[in-house]
Amino acid sequence: MKRIAVLTSGGDSPGMNAAIRAVTRSAIYRGLDVIGFRRGYEGLLDGDGVPLTKSSVGGIIHRGGTMLRTARSDRFRRPEGINEAISRLREYDIDGLVVVGGDGSFRGAWALHEQGFPVAGIPGTIDNDIAGTDSTIGFDTACNTALQSVEKLRDTASSHDRLFIVEVMGRSAGFLALEVAVASGAECVLVPEVPFHLEHLCEKLHYAKQRGKTHSMIILAEGVMSANQLASRLKDTGGYEARITVLGHVQRGGSPSSFDAVLASRMGASAVEMLLEGQRGFMVGYVNQQLTSCPLPTAWESKKPLNHEMMALVEALSI
Ligand code: ATP
Repeated sequence: MKRIAVLTSGGDSPGMNAAIRAVTRSAIYRGLDVIGFRRGYEGLLDGDGVPLTKSSVGGIIHRGGTMLRTARSDRFRRPEGINEAISRLREYDIDGLVVVGGDGSFRGAWALHEQGFPVAGIPGTIDNDIAGTDSTIGFDTACNTALQSVEKLRDTASSHDRLFIVEVMGRSAGFLALEVAVASGAECVLVPEVPFHLEHLCEKLHYAKQRGKTHSMIILAEGVMSANQLASRLKDTGGYEARITVLGHVQRGGSPSSFDAVLASRMGASAVEMLLEGQRGFMVGYVNQQLTSCPLPTAWESKKPLNHEMMALVEALSI
């Protein structure tokens, strides 16, 4: 291998820049040239590649977002798109491609692999919903960002004896909601993986009040329903007046935590090493504090289970 490329795809996450830096610097260290494609697969199809050098990836390790920018690309999903992308990669003399993104981006990378092109995946998403790795790049930072807000809201909730609903990201996965709920000592957590029962929630709030609790915090993953919907259902059924906060995109931004910057650096360097060792169509993972690799389809074929011991912990510790 003489030249590799890197791109970021799907939703951005804190630590993607640290991954770009690690891929670039470790590849240069091993004598390779590096091209960065801007705007994910869309930029690849447009031939929007730039040479990455030791210095062009300087001063980015601590920055949120992605210097290569990211995009979603419908063109790329089509069979002609895959073939066109491979022609572009050949035009640039690329021998291997590193894709930083979520499971959708990995499906795209797998399509390139199936056409014989060497690819590696690095899991970058705040959702942490990728099997084959305990943690994805950006998850830890997003948890800390959300936690800071929840702690501030708790000050008001306790001062004014209020019920707060905090809506966090997570359309189909509740990892972020669960982590934040345990870390903030929230009274309830609602996640897409567990069926929602309004009566059960009302009962819980009722008994909490009877036990002398003056305020409660509900952490709601957006995939269950919106905070507005939940607030009006709680009012209609139980007469509860809830204040709502939707954290939104702040959860995706900001400098990576030390955990994410280190994880991204290690995964970026490993992706290059593994490509040079001859691995193909794989994703770098982090399992039991070790860097690992698994076939890319693991990311979407196996469902990463939510930690039910932590779900029970929210119940047990909010008495
Ligand atoms: P996030 O977790 O932040 O949503 P993601 O990588 O899952 O990140 P997607 O929008 O699902 O984000 O996918 C990113 C891009 O990957 C898509 O815009 C598309 O170009 C490509 N992609 C997704 N699924 C496929 C597929 N089945 N085949 C080919 N390409 C795909």
